[in-house]
Amino acid sequence: MKSTPALLFASTILLSSPALAEPPNVVASIKPIHSLVASIMQGIGEPSLVVEGAASPHTYNMKPSNAAALQAARVVFWVGPGLEIFLEKPLEALGSGAKVVQLSEAPGIEKLPFREGGAFEPHEDGDEHGEEEHEHGAEEASHEGHDADTHGAAAEEAEHGHGESEFDMHLWLDPMNAKAMAAQIEKTLTEADPANAAAYKANLEKLNRRLDGLDKSLAGTVAPIKDKPFVVFHDAYQYFEHRYKVRVAGSITVSPEVLPGAERLSEIHAKIEDLGATCVFAEPQFEPKLVNVVIEGTPAKSGTLDPEAATLEGGPDLYFQLMENIGASLKDCLSSAS
Ligand SMILES: [Zn+2]
Repeated sequence: MKSTPALLFASTILLSSPALAEPPNVVASIKPIHSLVASIMQGIGEPSLVVEGAASPHTYNMKPSNAAALQAARVVFWVGPGLEIFLEKPLEALGSGAKVVQLSEAPGIEKLPFREGGAFEPHEDGDEHGEEEHEHGAEEASHEGHDADTHGAAAEEAEHGHGESEFDMHLWLDPMNAKAMAAQIEKTLTEADPANAAAYKANLEKLNRRLDGLDKSLAGTVAPIKDKPFVVFHDAYQYFEHRYKVRVAGSITVSPEVLPGAERLSEIHAKIEDLGATCVFAEPQFEPKLVNVVIEGTPAKSGTLDPEAATLEGGPDLYFQLMENIGASLKDCLSSAS
């Protein structure tokens, strides 16, 4: 069969047009990560998301549709062990057809050590604390499905009160870490899909500019409330604190998988009085009544923070809304508190 010049011209366009190159099948674990991936893929394709809606990554259970999405994936982005515990086993079981990218290992990312029990002091009497035992219980439960031979070391680590990471894995709550993740995402997608390399690169440059702008604006938002201590629901904010020098005085839960007991609540109530913590922040996935319990009889006010974006629609803008909302909530509550 003879090709006409018109057909030759058409096939040349098909080969060279980035918009027509089929993007790889990409899965992202949680909303903040999905948002960064969606920014890099903007105009090319859309990643799918595992933890949808208002679910918390700390208590999530995989659905059959999630397992199917993972099976079909060319590339999977997640933060890493210790954050998306529900993904640890399914990712181990994935064949070599999918590239799994652990973003906590992205070059240039800053990692801070895991803090036991929020920003409160270390336990003076580790033996009798009920919540310590509960925490161990939760870790054991999360390892139930794992093979004993491969997870001996992890079980040992759980003895020390935390799972498989010595680092706080809420890495995305610093826009500079988001930039490190974005660079790794762009590099991975370019390798998997070289036909769209130019578009990924342009999207990365645009995202980096937006992240720099966000960083400047957040620094300005929280500047007036830097000295005011506050209490959070779970210890997710270390990276935000480190970047913007705000003062988290403690967290209500020791471990977000486990609700705090009466002893822990009265301990925090006492801390709020001692420190003069001016605001206590609930989170949308967790029981807001606990916040009222710990502020009762104190002048502290309550607000809401959403570090895992439970209330936000997924997409390229989500990351920016998530971060701006944290800055705005801190400023609103703390600037009106005495
Ligand atoms: Zn968290």
